[in-house]
Amino acid sequence: MTRYDPDCIFCKIATGHIPANLVYKNDHVAAFHDINPVAPIHVLIIPLEHIRSLSDLKDGDSEIAAQILLAARIVAEKTGVLESGYRLVFNNGEDALQSVGHIHAHLIGGKTMGWPPF
Ligand code: C5P
Repeated sequence: MTRYDPDCIFCKIATGHIPANLVYKNDHVAAFHDINPVAPIHVLIIPLEHIRSLSDLKDGDSEIAAQILLAARIVAEKTGVLESGYRLVFNNGEDALQSVGHIHAHLIGGKTMGWPPF
């Protein structure tokens, strides 16, 4: 792992220094239950490497970006929402209320949602 921020809570979760309720982990990403769920299923999918936001993704990060999306399908299957449906949300930057500066996809499901999402 090349990028790591010792002050980042999701880096600490990615490396196991802080415990989390893990759903899935591979060499690129980890997925764990959100500590403050907004739906019956609310799992965060993070890259193991520290990347602050979607806006900081570089061309060389294509494998990491793909792994986040592929992990979403696995998490959906593991949490039982693959067939019923789920939403994948990336809060990116201030207007989107991103509160943790380490890319994370919220996988939300287990209920019928509304649209638009704001
Ligand atoms: O998209 P945003 O940055 O606002 O989301 C951060 C999410 O990380 C929140 O849903 C929060 O509950 C979650 N979180 C967590 N475990 C932590 C810190 C934050 O699940 N230790």
